[in-house]
Amino acid sequence: MLSIKNIHARVEDKEILRGINLEIKAGEVHAIMGPNGSGKSTLSSVLAGREEYEVTEGSVAFLGKDLLDLAPEDRAREGLFLAFQYPVEIPGVSTTNFVKAAVNEKRKYNGEEPLDAVSFLKLMKEKMAMVEIDQSLLSRSINEGFSGGEKKRNEVFQMAMLEPKLAILDETDSGLDIDALRIVANGINELRRPDRAFLVITHYQRLLDYIQPDFVHVLYKGRIVKSGTKELALELEEKGYDFITEQIDLAA
Ligand code: ADP
Ligand code: MG
Ligand code: MG
Repeated sequence: MLSIKNIHARVEDKEILRGINLEIKAGEVHAIMGPNGSGKSTLSSVLAGREEYEVTEGSVAFLGKDLLDLAPEDRAREGLFLAFQYPVEIPGVSTTNFVKAAVNEKRKYNGEEPLDAVSFLKLMKEKMAMVEIDQSLLSRSINEGFSGGEKKRNEVFQMAMLEPKLAILDETDSGLDIDALRIVANGINELRRPDRAFLVITHYQRLLDYIQPDFVHVLYKGRIVKSGTKELALELEEKGYDFITEQIDLAA
């Protein structure tokens, strides 16, 4: 589904990613962890197509297409979901209207008719039940005055509505409380399917108490320095990152 090969990327002349390799297959959940400043958010920004991040080497294939060649909005229409790609706040635009536009843009891109009002409502109801979101939240201006938990619920709802092939979630906000983490984890668990994959980037060990990743990767100084199963996350919880990073620094 996603094949990242030897990605090098820089921001403002500073090389941040220094040869990332990662293969994600349909149905898998991958977690990327690592100390602050390792390049985790840079990796998600590169996959999202943020223009401040310049890819200097390497390639990314998404469902057989050259991802880096696609405009950011086309990446979404091809089935990539990036949580933070969606607007922070848009006064006067409800989640319902925002999601309706996004769903129909995606359908148009894929040569499908827009959903009629009845089908859209049916889909909304189904997904609302799935992610346990309240109607009143969906009719408010998107993210305006939302609590951390409400923002997360909204994000998971958007993900459910857009039915992505690959969802990338960068859990950057250090203000996330345990409820918000649980909402994200439940959403991933609900939306997990054999033909869908997840890349969850997290600073929080605790998130992995609620989701069961198939693979855990440690990113350090712009490279994946260790990969394993969920046991690796447990080991990190116990020992911290030092037992990995010290070896890397010694070898450098
Ligand atoms: P992480 O998400 O692992 O904490 P980041 O990808 O946010 O790490 O950052 C990695 C490095 O890249 C840091 O040194 C950070 O300061 C730098 N960096 C990231 N984005 C920018 C940017 N837009 N401008 C300048 N430096 C950046
Ligand atoms: Mg950071
Ligand atoms: Mg980050």
